[in-house]
Amino acid sequence: MPETVLVCVAWPYANTPLHAGQMAGAYLPADIFARYHRMKGNRVLMVSGSDAHGTPITVRAEAEGTTPEAVYQKNHQSFVDTFERFGVSFDLFTSTATANHAEVAQGIFQKLLAAGYIYPATQTLLFDPKVGRFLPDRYVEGICPKCGYDGARGDQCDNCGSTLDALELLSPRSRLSDATPEPRPSEHFFLKLSAFNERLTEWVAPQDHWRAAVRNFTLGLLREGLHDRAITRDLEWGIPVPVEGFEGKRLYVWFEAVIGYLSASIEWSKTHGQPEAWRDFWLDPSARTYYFQGKDNVPFHTTIWPAMLMGSATPDETLALPYDVPANQYVTMSGAKASSSRNWAVWMPDYLDRHESDPLRYMLSAVMPETSDSDFTWSEYVRRNNDELVATWGNLVHRVLTFTRRNFDAQVPPQPASLSESSQRLLDRIDGAFEDEGKHIEAVNLRAALQVAMSVAQDANRYLDERAPWTAIKTDRDHAAESLWTVINVISGIATLMQPFMPFTSPRAWALAGNTGDLQAVGWQRSVIAGGTALPEPLPLFQKFDDSVAAEEEARLGH
Ligand SMILES: [Zn+2]
Repeated sequence: MPETVLVCVAWPYANTPLHAGQMAGAYLPADIFARYHRMKGNRVLMVSGSDAHGTPITVRAEAEGTTPEAVYQKNHQSFVDTFERFGVSFDLFTSTATANHAEVAQGIFQKLLAAGYIYPATQTLLFDPKVGRFLPDRYVEGICPKCGYDGARGDQCDNCGSTLDALELLSPRSRLSDATPEPRPSEHFFLKLSAFNERLTEWVAPQDHWRAAVRNFTLGLLREGLHDRAITRDLEWGIPVPVEGFEGKRLYVWFEAVIGYLSASIEWSKTHGQPEAWRDFWLDPSARTYYFQGKDNVPFHTTIWPAMLMGSATPDETLALPYDVPANQYVTMSGAKASSSRNWAVWMPDYLDRHESDPLRYMLSAVMPETSDSDFTWSEYVRRNNDELVATWGNLVHRVLTFTRRNFDAQVPPQPASLSESSQRLLDRIDGAFEDEGKHIEAVNLRAALQVAMSVAQDANRYLDERAPWTAIKTDRDHAAESLWTVINVISGIATLMQPFMPFTSPRAWALAGNTGDLQAVGWQRSVIAGGTALPEPLPLFQKFDDSVAAEEEARLGH
């Protein structure tokens, strides 16, 4: 019975290009997960989009002397381009600037308002007396009251991950002038998060399949107690508040952006001629919803969005709560946190101009920060490329197929009448690996899943070393034929196991083993290669890097 799987991926702010740390945090794991489920024959919808609103965009527009619209458009195009070149297979990557999103977001607002979970109140906000404007979140900077980091923003501290209120900042300063902002009253709407504390705790506590860090962090927030939060802002860029008298204000970006998962599902349904299809993902209790993101986004997906879903439920429409929120920790770059201002990042457009996608997909999967922060270095990238992709996997494919073509008339040797114990063991190993790797991917343990595929490649190399068809061919042609027939079938299986991780080179490896057609469509199983199948001329799957590549790339950081 095919399962219904909704893959929701964090919405990137469209204010800078994407960097490799964001790929490892959310987009790559989501893509691996979605590709696997599609191969399993499950019904998958993977959605996200550019976060076009909010102060990150307006702050950037003011810095560049342009409009928020232009900033969002430029970066949205860059995101779409990066996802295509890096092989991130969204069913829909849209943006929060669509009319559909505004309509869905305002609809949720109205439902929460009608249910009494949104209320108006006077809020004290920081006001810049020099420029005569209120200063929403990122327009204020100061010292984090939780960790003491100088450079915390009015909405969040990037150092300790705490969400903040601008009034909590110590020594606040305006980003629009050199003025010290002063508190003034302003009328806004609030989301009554305090009303959901108990229901959320009852929901989160039994989620044994969540990552321990995600569940414990969330239960910690709930023990402290959620506070009601303002959901409107004094801004001109964003989604209008659908209430008379609030014309000059906009929905706060965190409130409307999380609704994007729902609005994107609806948009996908409309544009695919099945306007009701989104209901299968959101209203069917057997559907599972996964939210991929970095750890800084956890509170929005384990408390705020679930509270909004609970609060907007009506007797005939109860939207699904998250099934899992497999948030990743951070990937640092050569020991330091990625930073735009210091240009300390591997920018995806730059990377993709210089290198192939799969080596980076492999590297980031191998160090994916599932339980703790991990570090990316270019020397490790070169080492893994050369030792693991080139020497272990690529060379297995290349030497077996080159040798077979030369000695067996460019065809797969005939299937042996009976197999020796070592050949049978290797075939059992590859077939068992599908279940092992699948279980790891379903539990979103992607490092372990990749390790399953790679360890079969290591076993296949060991098998070849033991049976040495290169020498056996001179004395016992049948012995060599059995080894090659076996390993070509194992290569067909490994290529399939690698497909979710490396969707560019895996179909090539699979075709080199004699397969024809679409690997993604074959399903989560090894396609059997019959004796006599024609073998195409093999070209190397990966390119070996000189050590100077690491030094050159490392030198780009911070300049
Ligand atoms: Zn902090």
